Amino acid sequence: MDLLEKCRAYTRADEARDAGLYRYYPSFQGPSEGGRAVLDGAEVCMLGSNDYRALCSNLQVIGAAQDAVALYGTSAAGPRLLSGNLDLHEELEADLAGFLGYEAALVFATGYMANLGVVSALASSGDQVYLDENAHASLIDGARLAQASGATVRQFGHMSPDDLARQLAAAPTRSVLVATDGLFPMEGHLAPLAELVTVCEEYGATLLVDDSHGVGLFGRGRGVLQHFGIVGRVPVMTLTFSTSLASQGGAVLADARTINFLRHTCRPQIFSAGLSPADTAAAHAALREIRRGADSEPDALAAAEHLRRALDALGYDVAGGAGPLIPVRFSDEVTMLSAQRIMVDYGVFTNVPPPACESYQLVIACTDAHTPDVLEAVIGVFAALRDGLLSHYRREA
Ligand code: PMP
Repeated sequence: MDLLEKCRAYTRADEARDAGLYRYYPSFQGPSEGGRAVLDGAEVCMLGSNDYRALCSNLQVIGAAQDAVALYGTSAAGPRLLSGNLDLHEELEADLAGFLGYEAALVFATGYMANLGVVSALASSGDQVYLDENAHASLIDGARLAQASGATVRQFGHMSPDDLARQLAAAPTRSVLVATDGLFPMEGHLAPLAELVTVCEEYGATLLVDDSHGVGLFGRGRGVLQHFGIVGRVPVMTLTFSTSLASQGGAVLADARTINFLRHTCRPQIFSAGLSPADTAAAHAALREIRRGADSEPDALAAAEHLRRALDALGYDVAGGAGPLIPVRFSDEVTMLSAQRIMVDYGVFTNVPPPACESYQLVIACTDAHTPDVLEAVIGVFAALRDGLLSHYRREA
């Protein structure tokens, strides 16, 4: 049996396709703008995008990306350590650090690489990593790399500072990294960060918070640390630029000595090309827009609150807290996938869970573009779905 036999034997996606239940890689034509997108030639209301502040179509952001391409070309064309370091990267890092309350920042080509890089660079032989058991895949994969270089990796109960405290009390070392998402995207709720900070401080552990879904929305744009009043008490923070910052890329924020260490030791930073000029400039322009509008509450949060209440009133099993993401639970996989298809047919696109995720829920993402009229149309579709659309679909299928 050769190596690729497993690929030939992989039929899960084909089976789902044959059963009419395949929902991955939907093909959109053109941008998602004004809360709408074009899917397979038909307009849908886009409830699956992480462009929370609707800045992907903002003219300042687009203009900044266009100017960067005109001035710097299309690629950094090398790792930053050697030949691909641009003043654009350094200017973005300085502004990110200032805005988010850290001494320094380091920009990466993706948020995934930021997490992979920081965890694997900070933890090795003799160190321990504690992950929330529902931490993002990129934190888990970073911990796997750390484990390969000798770190011990453990999980603590999801959102459980008590379990973390119990485990840290018994830990053989204080050289500990604790990592958690700030807002869990599959569940929509915020981590108990104030309590986690207290536990980490008590045991001398270093806390890393991935605020990919909080920056731009909470704490007047500064994210969940500001929201919880714990700026200055979380030694390491990461984020992606592919949510509120309307771009591609990610960053790690920490004290200057830690960032200096990462600049010279972090493999995804050293052995990968710098973020492209357009992506860097777009993220920076989006940051400026967020800072400029920091005094008003993001429409995305109000939209999510309105939708969460409306779906709850319709009898849907909705989860999530104060954030832009609303998981809507279904009884089983086929019902969930059928519901997703019906809603697309009725002009509403929602995300299904990624493969190997055991939960049967569609996750709705609200953005600033979800104006009251868009939301009313969405609520109308959910109401119709509840009132029998689903059983009708089953008969037709
Ligand atoms: N962390 C979290 C919590 C995420 O949800 C994601 C994906 N959006 C990432 C990291 C990875 O970000 P990116 O898409 O920039 O790789």
